[in-house]
Amino acid sequence: MAKSRALPNHYQDLCKLLRDAATLGSVDALLNWDQETYMPPAGGAARADQQAIISALTHEKRTSARIGDLLRTCESDAELKSDEAIAANLRLIRRDYDRATKLPTDLVAEIARTQSLSQEAWKHARSNDDFKAFRPWLEKIIALMRKKAQAYGTPTSGELYDNLLDEYEPGMTAAQISAIFDPLRPRLSALVSDLTGSKAKVSSKVTEIKAPKDAQQAFGVAVLKAMGFDLDAGRLDVTTHPFCSGMAPGDTRLTTRYNSPSFLEPLSGTMHEAGHGLYEQGLPKVTHFGQPLSEAVSLGIHESQSRMWENFVGRSKAFWSWCTPVAKKHFGKSFKGDVESMYRASNVVKRSFIRVEADEATYNLHVMLRFEIERALVSGDLPAKDLPKFWNARFNEYLGLKVPSDKIGCLQDVHWSFGLVGYFPTYTLGNLYAAQFWEKINRDQPDLEKKMARGDFTDLLGWLRRNIHRHGRRYEAAELCRKVTGKDLSPEPLMRHLEGKLRPLYKV
Ligand code: ZN
Repeated sequence: MAKSRALPNHYQDLCKLLRDAATLGSVDALLNWDQETYMPPAGGAARADQQAIISALTHEKRTSARIGDLLRTCESDAELKSDEAIAANLRLIRRDYDRATKLPTDLVAEIARTQSLSQEAWKHARSNDDFKAFRPWLEKIIALMRKKAQAYGTPTSGELYDNLLDEYEPGMTAAQISAIFDPLRPRLSALVSDLTGSKAKVSSKVTEIKAPKDAQQAFGVAVLKAMGFDLDAGRLDVTTHPFCSGMAPGDTRLTTRYNSPSFLEPLSGTMHEAGHGLYEQGLPKVTHFGQPLSEAVSLGIHESQSRMWENFVGRSKAFWSWCTPVAKKHFGKSFKGDVESMYRASNVVKRSFIRVEADEATYNLHVMLRFEIERALVSGDLPAKDLPKFWNARFNEYLGLKVPSDKIGCLQDVHWSFGLVGYFPTYTLGNLYAAQFWEKINRDQPDLEKKMARGDFTDLLGWLRRNIHRHGRRYEAAELCRKVTGKDLSPEPLMRHLEGKLRPLYKV
């Protein structure tokens, strides 16, 4: 961005207003983080009040008429728009502003209220394995999501779902996703059948040791430091459902949990969230906070960063060459693993019911099922009442398991109860982007494995910073993918990664 000349007042004022709105938003994020980590249970009601006020203020600030006026002035300033980065920024500010102002306030309020109630209803329905209790809420949520999608106008494709997807993966359509997912699914199913039919012993037993929480936390922090996560600008805390919050410039919070019999699961979770966190720390927030240029491209690209560190780094032999002695140092004599056994332990493939516990090979099948279902729920092809029947039949078809209860079937995820419809496919898009980026990184840095085996991730992070992080939202995901790898998104790199690693391990 041109620094030599002073930017006009209307642009500076616009950026200042966006920064104020983002700062309010960051207060909301801090309240959220606190709720998930340290808030005492009795603080819940007051917290809901605090958040309701803050989110209303944030929405007001983001949709103010003053932003609209300044934006129009900037858009008619030809000199300003001759700067490519500023032109991209303005285009995205317009997009966000139009989307935000298209939603009637009463609809926003109704969605917020329903989300909160529906999430509570879902929690109870899930713990009681009672789909019937959740069904009316699901119907309400889907109706509201259709209303929301309609408020944005008719999408080019004519398919309402695309307007919901656009919130999480701008520029992507359901038809494009189908074109990638449909041919990929049978190939994944075939791979999973071969792997799970193998007699090779691939087990994670060696990681099931007595590892005190303090030791696990210190181990996780050692890995974070090696990855390049800046702990002066971030933290690692404990929570029930791990997440990353890049809440403000200089403040990126990671969370993990230590309730697994294996120390591998918390480590993978920490590396996953740290992948998100490194992206957040690499965005140009200090200079551009509040502007699209300081934000992530999409959830798919965000997930590509987390899955890359979790899977492509964290489940590789090179990584364990470095990390096995680190684990020994933290866990002492009770840990008897070596590089080979840790590599095997990291790559166990098993058909299972729960998405968040699924391995690299089966994971995307879980996601594809959800994508098809939510698309059909929004189009009306699948009435909410038929969800369990449909889920169970498809699950059996894709994953070869008979779902014994809705609790570990269609009630397992929080997303739909919270109105997150159009979100699921971004998980698999993330895996696909990660694989495609990973091949390019290894072409650019042929000695990457050697460096990883020494615990040196500097050049890997440098590559991600240069090619992905520093651009913010300047390029849409598809464009970024082409710019970085020279090709459109393709399922081939992911298949090559999975086949190339897992077939030799399982001898199939
Ligand atoms: Zn993630």
